[in-house]
Amino acid sequence: MVDASVIEVLQNIVGREHVLTRKVDRVTYSFDATADVPRKIPEVVVMPASTAEVQGIVNLAQSRQVAIYPRGAGTNLSGGTIPLAGGIVLSFQRMNRVLEVDAENLTATVQPGVVIQELNNAVAPHGLLYPPDPGTVETATMGGAVAENSGGLRGLKYGVTKHYVMGMEVVLANGEKVRFGGKTVKNVTGYEFASLFVGSEGTLGLMTEITVKLIPAPKFRRTMLATFQTIEDAGNTVAGIIKAQVIPATLEILDRKTIETVEAYAHVGLPTGAEALLLIEVDGMAEAVVEREAEAVVETVAANHGTLRQANSDAERDQLWAARRAALPALASLNNTVVLEDATVPRSRITDMLLACAAIGRKYNLVLGTFGHAGDGNLHPTILADKNNADEMARLHRAVEEIFATALGLGGTLSGEHGIGIAKMRFLGSELGESGLNLMRAIKDALDPNRILNPGKLVPAREAAHA
Ligand SMILES: Cc1cc2nc3c(=O)[nH]c(=O)nc-3n(C[C@H](O)[C@H](O)[C@H](O)COP(=O)(O)OP(=O)(O)OC[C@H]3O[C@@H](n4cnc5c(N)ncnc54)[C@H](O)[C@@H]3O)c2cc1C
Repeated sequence: MVDASVIEVLQNIVGREHVLTRKVDRVTYSFDATADVPRKIPEVVVMPASTAEVQGIVNLAQSRQVAIYPRGAGTNLSGGTIPLAGGIVLSFQRMNRVLEVDAENLTATVQPGVVIQELNNAVAPHGLLYPPDPGTVETATMGGAVAENSGGLRGLKYGVTKHYVMGMEVVLANGEKVRFGGKTVKNVTGYEFASLFVGSEGTLGLMTEITVKLIPAPKFRRTMLATFQTIEDAGNTVAGIIKAQVIPATLEILDRKTIETVEAYAHVGLPTGAEALLLIEVDGMAEAVVEREAEAVVETVAANHGTLRQANSDAERDQLWAARRAALPALASLNNTVVLEDATVPRSRITDMLLACAAIGRKYNLVLGTFGHAGDGNLHPTILADKNNADEMARLHRAVEEIFATALGLGGTLSGEHGIGIAKMRFLGSELGESGLNLMRAIKDALDPNRILNPGKLVPAREAAHA
């Protein structure tokens, strides 16, 4: 319970102006980008500016047994920031400094509230890049991205967030501050703690500093858009490009429904008659290599009956990327509830998964568009529904269950990049089994025995473990 005495201590820790108590302010923190999950207004929102302030808040919450819900930009898609028990929302928006860019060691150290694009703006003058690019780089924070182990548009060639986190500072549930890892490429001292916190969704500790690996920014790139009359041709092209030993930086797919919706929404000149479209970008440090890879892509697309359009200028490239980035907003504009899944399959099963998603949409008579990171096998079947139509929502829930079952049946996983949060918690047992769930509970109990950190997320209570 957050009473007046808790508010007073919070105000003493961070300053009165950084504690939000008015309902009109708190309501903004009652939801995130996730549809079809409960909303709850927090009792208070607090915005610390330093690790010491975070420790003070955690110590207070621990002594008063109040839940803390960490929050970056609130763009996650699994209900990760919803303050299910009210309590304290701890927003990292004031801890937003890039602390260091170390060009010699190819690292950067940031506070968790740094927006991903701001990190890239800071490293770009050094000719460097932080590659992970969830579609929300202009908004999402580094803390949120690390806590979700976000993936995104460059996963195939460059990997995902976990491949870049080298170290961090964390405030534990008991208020202690600890550091793991650092700037060395090699570090096998003790357990691999930094990896444990990557993807922990705010349930094990609060990250207050993060050190990431940087790479030299690729100097050359070629961007292409290929359209196909069948899903199979698109799927075979994905396989064919990899088989030609080309690893594109980006290999994204949009299905027919998504193409039509994006075109109606953004008017970017997409061919609305096509069954599927691939956005392909190859990049690298040597122009000749990039050109050779682009040629291999052109040949593979032609061999699979595709039609290719190449971006001949930055403006044209931006237009092709705008089409991809508009996929979710465009689909979301179709109805009041948009449920975006991220079931992921081995790349070799991508065609099966695409066809299965379309069939599930037809079976349950739902509007379903699929787009996503084809090169990673990470698809986003997206279902549009009317939350006021109980029958349609029931069909949506059955369709989601079938999508998960299909992905697992194809050797895949429930979530490739959006995390479990509230949205997928009840399905977790179907992938991890009872032993896996118990291991997660044991880790949670060891680090947060009183369950004050983001309770009700990721780690299911015993009775909630199975769908
Ligand atoms: C249009 C759209 C497109 C998207 N596309 C992609 C995509 O392609 N790939 C992808 O991977 N994701 C995608 N996302 C999801 C989202 O952008 C990512 O999950 C993002 O990285 C979350 O960052 P955030 O700052 O918004 O975190 P939040 O949503 O605020 O928080 C996410 C989680 O992190 C926890 N948290 C936040 N900060 C800390 C901290 N300092 N310490 C501990 N825990 C913390 C929160 O409690 C929560 O559990 C998309 C979202 C939208 C809306």
